[in-house]
Amino acid sequence: MTEKEVLELFDKHGAFLKGHFRLSSGLHSEGYLQCALILQHPEIAEKLSRALAKRFEKEKIDLVIGPALGGITLAYEVARSLKLRGIFAERQDGKMVLRRGFSIVKGEKVLVVEDVITTGGSTKEVIELVKSTGGIVIGVGSIIDRSEGRIDFGVRAEHLAGIKIDTFSEEACPLCRSNVLIVKPGSR
Ligand SMILES: [Zn+2]
Repeated sequence: MTEKEVLELFDKHGAFLKGHFRLSSGLHSEGYLQCALILQHPEIAEKLSRALAKRFEKEKIDLVIGPALGGITLAYEVARSLKLRGIFAERQDGKMVLRRGFSIVKGEKVLVVEDVITTGGSTKEVIELVKSTGGIVIGVGSIIDRSEGRIDFGVRAEHLAGIKIDTFSEEACPLCRSNVLIVKPGSR
């Protein structure tokens, strides 16, 4: 899949929202990518995941992991494409952990996936989690990279498309200054 095809999917499914958003990082943004609107279509999720899996097909990988909630569907579909296990990490008391009996065996090679990478915070937490179990992180894959490739995960990173959306601190936010109603994306 080309980057253009991926971006057209976001447009077509209304998954690239414009407005005034408060991101989980606390920053304000004039746009938001609602990947769930894309991934709710299994045939599209499969296609995107296959394209992402293809970037890592030459690597020896044992399992795929993504952070909840955004990374669950993607990890599952990428894992299916690579015929591997797909699991997810979730936050408990603010800390990214494995629950539900999920485990990573020492020495297992792990691909970390996330739907949209903005600050890379959750992804880095999952990388640390994998390392803490003795797993070996082989790479990071995302559908969209909003960071313009600026984040160094210390491993190979692949994304299907890049999108630049301006973000602002609350103090510097021009949308706040114009009294545009702010919403927390994904909350409804
Ligand atoms: Zn604002």
